[in-house]
Amino acid sequence: MDAKLNQIISNVSLNLGFRYKVVSDYYPYKSIKNTARVKKGVLYVRASDKLKDAPQEVKEALAYVLLSKIKGIRVAPRYKRVYNDYIHNLIINESFDNIKGIHEPNGSYFNLDEIFHTINTKYFSNEITKPALRWSKRRAYRIFGRYDRSKNEIVVSSLLDEKKTPKYVVEYIMYHEMLHIKFGFTYKRGRRKIHPGSFKKEEEKFPYYKESIDYLKKVSGRERKFIF
Ligand SMILES: [Zn+2]
Repeated sequence: MDAKLNQIISNVSLNLGFRYKVVSDYYPYKSIKNTARVKKGVLYVRASDKLKDAPQEVKEALAYVLLSKIKGIRVAPRYKRVYNDYIHNLIINESFDNIKGIHEPNGSYFNLDEIFHTINTKYFSNEITKPALRWSKRRAYRIFGRYDRSKNEIVVSSLLDEKKTPKYVVEYIMYHEMLHIKFGFTYKRGRRKIHPGSFKKEEEKFPYYKESIDYLKKVSGRERKFIF
């Protein structure tokens, strides 16, 4: 049991009028998955261990999402937003480490070299120096792209190298990863910010931003129960 997590969930549970004893912990799910169920008056919550380092407000938001479902009430949009924003950033950028790749920018349907040049011309005045580009070997369905600073390499999930994928989605991933190159490391109160506000603002300028996010959510949604 995780005492801090338990405290957060207990508070939310009380706020929603529940009287359950809470037993919660992090669980090393392969994907970002969270579950909640009630058995004999005890509320059991298992949160993905990928959320361990999340800020308290994200954990609170998750608790509201899970417990509102148990209660059968609508989840307040602000909780969905806080949770989804955090997950989105994890999905797009984090823990891509185990993915070995083909060192080949030319996939079956999309050429990452071409896409890089298009995006660099359109949005960066050709000022980004081209990093290594490749498709991932594993068809990662939660993490769609990653910029590895030490290798100076952008990897895109080969799950997207499909005929049915709209080109703008691959372009969006490329755009996002190129913003990482442009922004470098940003620190706020000594903590590294992966996606600072200025990054997000620029990201939202991508013309198909919303459509791309919707598409990626759909793709990653196949195995998802509590993420939306
Ligand atoms: Zn990112």
